[in-house]
Amino acid sequence: MKKGYFGQWGGAYIPEVLHATFVELNKAYDLARTDKKFWQEYVDFMQNYSCRPTPLTYAENLSDHLGGARIYIKREDLNHTGAHKANNVMGQGLLVKRMGKKRVIAETGAGQHGVATATMAAKFGFECTIYMGEEDVLRQRPNVFWMEKLGATVVPVTDGSRTLKDAMNEAFRDWVSSMDTTHYVIGTVCGPHPFPEMVAWFQSIIGIEAREQILKQFGKLPSRVYACVGGGSNAMGIFQGFLQDEGVELVGVEAGGKGLETGMHASRMVGGKSQPGVAQGYKTMFLQSDEGQMLDTHSIAAGLDYVGVSPILVDLGEKGRVRFESATDEAVLEALSLSMRTEGIIPALESSHGFVQAIKEAPKMQRDEAIIINMSGRGDKDIFTIAHAYDDPSWKEFIIQRAEEYKNRV
Ligand SMILES: *Cc1c(COP(=O)(O)O)cnc(C)c1O
Repeated sequence: MKKGYFGQWGGAYIPEVLHATFVELNKAYDLARTDKKFWQEYVDFMQNYSCRPTPLTYAENLSDHLGGARIYIKREDLNHTGAHKANNVMGQGLLVKRMGKKRVIAETGAGQHGVATATMAAKFGFECTIYMGEEDVLRQRPNVFWMEKLGATVVPVTDGSRTLKDAMNEAFRDWVSSMDTTHYVIGTVCGPHPFPEMVAWFQSIIGIEAREQILKQFGKLPSRVYACVGGGSNAMGIFQGFLQDEGVELVGVEAGGKGLETGMHASRMVGGKSQPGVAQGYKTMFLQSDEGQMLDTHSIAAGLDYVGVSPILVDLGEKGRVRFESATDEAVLEALSLSMRTEGIIPALESSHGFVQAIKEAPKMQRDEAIIINMSGRGDKDIFTIAHAYDDPSWKEFIIQRAEEYKNRV
């Protein structure tokens, strides 16, 4: 198989000017990957800065409530900055340090990857520029606020639809003129090689821990592992721990949005609206029209709202190793409520997609079986979206009152 390909998916479709940079990056990554000291340095760093190993929590109340399989939750929400994204950005940060570069750039849609990258840059003393569509800057003010306070420069991108893909183009443009000093921190298991493989490698820490933890706590392997799928990094992270264990079924859950039939979703693997394509530096299944135009996507979870998906997951899907499902916005809000009420745990809207499918399937399983849900992040960040969706009257009053206070101040 060609390097950087997973079946027919992946590759590195990059402009000629970036060739030397990718040679350098591949070399640094290959050296790091074969150097046990690098991995140890990474694990030590994550233990001291980001609460690793994250716990595997037995959700006893939720399991009793549903009947059937025992549900365990892998707590990536307890990472620094509140999600699994820390694993990837801190790993790349250590690599940048090795390469001797002094500046990092990233693009971000919802802002979570921007906040994680700005945090990493502050910790390692790198200069940091974050590209963000102007539309997203307006929608995600709290994250922009934190990025700036963490010392990053946030550049609103005014091209095109002023969202994620326009920010991505702008980040590549920056990189072409700054590659000697600058590393582009891609946020998920997508983009040109080596990013899918490299990001999956950093995220594999989730699965390595989860496998050990379930064997220790439950005495045997789980029957199924569930994870939400945006770009696919948290899913790949936990799945890698169980890829060789044929008895463990791996289930990826995509954003079903307002329902697959409405077209307002971000389901690439189920729903039949995606086709093979090459864009953003790699080949994968993109949601596109018959003419090959990228379709607009929708999800209540900003982190799942993306037209492409990891080439590694497309390949695993084709091979039948990963089963894909989708969860609607409505089902996500219900699963979130159930998790809060029974376990006192607030999953991110993204992570709640994994909960939906697990909650659906657990009651049909046996008590001596276990399942794991990868809880990719915590839901505190979603307070505006969740309060709005639950149509909470006292929250509305609070926002209006706050706005009045600000108006009176100026
Ligand atoms: C960004 C994000 C995701 C989606 O990214 P993947 O690469 O698919 O993991 C999922 N959950 C949370 C909490 C996120 O912040």
